[in-house]
Amino acid sequence: MLILISDSFHSTLPGILAKYGDVTSDKTRLPDATVVLIRSKTKVTKEYIDSAPKLKLVIRGGVGLDNVDQVYAKSKNIMVFNTAEASTIAVAELAFALMIALPNQITRADASMREGKWIKSEIHRTELMGKTLGILGLGRIGLALAARAQAFRMRVLGWHPDVYFTDFAEIIPTLEETVAVSDYVSLHMPLVSSTKGLIDKKTLACFKDGAYVINTGRGQCVVEEDMVEALKSGKIGGYATDVWYSDPPQNSPLIGAPNCIFTPHIGAETKENMIRIGTIIDRLIAEHKDKLS
Ligand code: NAD
Repeated sequence: MLILISDSFHSTLPGILAKYGDVTSDKTRLPDATVVLIRSKTKVTKEYIDSAPKLKLVIRGGVGLDNVDQVYAKSKNIMVFNTAEASTIAVAELAFALMIALPNQITRADASMREGKWIKSEIHRTELMGKTLGILGLGRIGLALAARAQAFRMRVLGWHPDVYFTDFAEIIPTLEETVAVSDYVSLHMPLVSSTKGLIDKKTLACFKDGAYVINTGRGQCVVEEDMVEALKSGKIGGYATDVWYSDPPQNSPLIGAPNCIFTPHIGAETKENMIRIGTIIDRLIAEHKDKLS
């Protein structure tokens, strides 16, 4: 059996998987691969699947399966799994780091020091304590962020289509009501048809003036042009995003917009998470070994 490691994983993974057969990162060997391991870079499209006649199992190291044509994979009897539970802490901690960095203007202060400037009187920080955080999408990561925000004594609200009660947040029935009272809004929905472009001109108009928005979910949940307008007008006080329309972004209007912090899709990139992902991949292959021969 050939296992193709198509994207970047922890360096120990090839050694862990060697017990199952041949392990390669040579993408030209896709036609012979029984198992393909991907993260967000490889797109498992219809064409990709058609060029892999021996493929029986795709494992996405991470959560979002929006880069896999799951319907076509199913029609070809290809099993598709993610390692959903692994990344929760890594992403929640990045969302929290961005939520601290925005009102503390850490990147601006750092850049000014490197330029030989002393802008102490221009940096007007605000605190998280007592502020309201609205979490859109109260799944694993949203709930982990909620727990961390409570430790900082924030008021935590959550909007979610099918969660009516949780210990960690007050559930608000609509998106509009949530963002209207939130000083911070953090996005944790999957990219599906109902969330694509959800944060657009119309919804941004409902946000509390000067709110900070953090996006470690998916870039396409936000209409970038509309966010840029809201940042320029001051309607949105700051936007921190880890996620983009494409990796890396191509001509994103956000680059150059005021009061932003950008990271290159590093939400899952902790050492601990990469090790957890490897452990889950090993378990998934072991569980389905009989169907792979
Ligand atoms: P999850 O499935 O536990 O939580 C997502 C929640 O959103 C679910 O509970 C779901 O019911 C809810 N939801 C579904 N449709 C919705 C809608 N229309 N509106 C609002 N909520 C909706 O997933 P998770 O582990 O918490 O991950 C959330 C998302 O974070 C992933 O889908 C992925 O896009 C993103 N993510 C990003 C990174 C990164 O590197 N930045 C890493 C991992 C995950």
